[in-house]
Amino acid sequence: MNVLVINCGSSSLKYQILDMENETLLCKGLVERIGMDGSVITHEKIGMDKVKKEVPMKDHKDAIKQVLDAVQNAEYGVVSSMADIGAVGHRVVHAGEKFAESVLIDEKVIAALEECVELAPLHNTPNLYGIAACQELMPDTPMVAVFDTAFHQTMPPESYIYAIPYEYYEKYGIRRYGFHGTSHKYVAQRAASMLNVNINDLKLITCHLGNGASVSAIKHGRCIDTSMGFTPLEGLVMGTRSGDIDPAIVTYIRQKENLPQGAVNEILNKKSGVLGISGVSSDFRDLEEAVAEGNARAALALRVFAKKVRFYIGAYIAEMNGVDAIVFTAGVGENDMNMRELICTDLGNLGIKLDLIKNKIRGKETVISTEDSKVKLLLIPTNEELMIARDTYNIAQKSAK
Ligand code: AMP
Repeated sequence: MNVLVINCGSSSLKYQILDMENETLLCKGLVERIGMDGSVITHEKIGMDKVKKEVPMKDHKDAIKQVLDAVQNAEYGVVSSMADIGAVGHRVVHAGEKFAESVLIDEKVIAALEECVELAPLHNTPNLYGIAACQELMPDTPMVAVFDTAFHQTMPPESYIYAIPYEYYEKYGIRRYGFHGTSHKYVAQRAASMLNVNINDLKLITCHLGNGASVSAIKHGRCIDTSMGFTPLEGLVMGTRSGDIDPAIVTYIRQKENLPQGAVNEILNKKSGVLGISGVSSDFRDLEEAVAEGNARAALALRVFAKKVRFYIGAYIAEMNGVDAIVFTAGVGENDMNMRELICTDLGNLGIKLDLIKNKIRGKETVISTEDSKVKLLLIPTNEELMIARDTYNIAQKSAK
């Protein structure tokens, strides 16, 4: 069965088609500037050059139409008709407390997701547009929703309850939800497979370090804590997000700078993190270049980032009473050997020893700890699309029976 994976943002859309008989990627692509001037689709059939086409796309339905045209194109398409797409998997960011697993989309699921829009308006709204467009254009194809929050639903209340009046949890659902769940779950499963140990016998810490970044504690296959919270703003320092700060800073900045409502939220999400500290960039490659040129604030930004990752690793080791393996994934985790070194330096007393030679690698599934390191350090490229396709395939097959 071929599965189409759709990841809809507010003005962009990423897609892939995977053949799930052997889990091979057939094509992938990106639609940008949906609803703006200069809408463009970039499509790549695996093994062929990319094709870029500028076409007006006023909404997500136009974008999905272009995707369906591209994947059926005689020259660079990968399916001969829509009937060759067995199911569609949609990435959905927020499922609140409603779903702890991926689900087949029906009217009830849509209604439940509409109730979650309030929790993540910027993400869930375009996710729902994408689902509606696909349902209209492919009415007979089963659709599955795969949620960023689902994997974290196993957290115990002491991990997800904030120490604010309990009524806000009851009235507004204010609690820690956690994000990047599909990635944390994927790398945890890969880690178990690499170590050849049943995931139910492992204590893992997974570090998803990309532009957005989060850490999870996964005990015996279940997430018991994660660093992102009610929104993806909490936890680690990120490219442009502050991560944990003293909440009193919010009102203080607003007062001092005489800012309108919402402005501080924008500052903490878009102008903070390593960008905010360095004043240089949110991209770690630029920061490392700046450090090489002697930029002290860029160096400070990297140290603050690393310190926070170490802080969570230490906390989660305490929470799980030990750890068997620590996984690094996503853009920074997979590629930035200097950052991995900064994070893992001087952790010998915790049984964590990075092999500096093995660490000189990028984007490849491999062990990077020394032979005598009690805790295994693993580099695992994430693959959220494959995880979405797997869930979609399994659920679509069950529903067909
Ligand atoms: P992601 O959000 O997972 O796509 O990660 C994107 C981020 O990964 C970029 O903003 C960079 O900071 C970082 N990144 C990607 N490639 C490299 C690299 N070769 N070295 C250092 N950082 C990288």
